Amino acid sequence: TDVGSQKDRVMSEEEWLQKWEMGNIGFHKDQGHPLLQKYLDVLLNGRSGLRIFFPLCGKAVEMKWLADVGHSVVGVEISEQALKDFFAEHSLPYCEEPVPEISGAKKLRSTSGNISLYCCSIYDLSSSIIGKFDGVWDRGALVAVNPCDRQRYVSLMITLMEKNSSYLLVTVSYDPNKHKGPPFYVPESEIKSLFG
Ligand code: SAH
Repeated sequence: TDVGSQKDRVMSEEEWLQKWEMGNIGFHKDQGHPLLQKYLDVLLNGRSGLRIFFPLCGKAVEMKWLADVGHSVVGVEISEQALKDFFAEHSLPYCEEPVPEISGAKKLRSTSGNISLYCCSIYDLSSSIIGKFDGVWDRGALVAVNPCDRQRYVSLMITLMEKNSSYLLVTVSYDPNKHKGPPFYVPESEIKSLFG
C-alpha cells in the first residue's frame, strides 16, 4: 500500500494540547482496550510486580488496571490536563514533583507511589531518567507519532527495555490515502524494519 500521502504529515504538540482542551479525544477508551485484556498474559509472561511503560499515555484507564494488580506504571504525556483528568477520574490522590533533568517537566505521582506520569515530551526522556521497563503497552503511541519521528521514537523505546521485556503494540489497518491520520497507518513491514 502507498503510505506516501502520510509521510510528510506533522501534528504539532500545540495541536494535541488543543484536542485535549476542546475535549476532542475520540481516541480515549473509557472501558479500556479489549486487546490488553486479551494479551495481558503475553505481556506479563508469568511475572509479577513489573515496571510497565505507557508512552504517549493520555488518560488511559489501563494504567489503573495494571497498578491495581501490583505493577508499577510509568507514563509520559505532553498534556497536563490529560494526566490530571486521569487521577481525578479514578479518585487517586497524587503529588507533583519537579524533574530536575528536564526543564519545564513535572512528574505527577500517585500518593500510593505505583503510578508516575511525566508531563513532558517523550523525546525529553531517557533510561537514565526513567529507568528500564519489563513491559510496554503501546496503543495510540507509535501510530500517533509523526511519521518523520518514527525511527527516533522506536530507537528510544528500545533503550528503555530490559532484556526480557515484552512489548504489546496496537496498530490500525486502513487505506492511508483515505484518511490523513493520526492514527497513522504503519505497515507490518515497516514495524519489522523499525524494531529490527
Ligand atoms: N495512548 C493513549 C493516548 C493516545 S493519543 C490512549 O490509548 O488513550 C496520543 C497522545 O499522545 C495524546 O494524548 C497526545 O497529547 C500525546 N502526545 C503527542 N505527542 C507527544 C509527545 N511528543 N510526547 C508525549 N506525549 C505526546
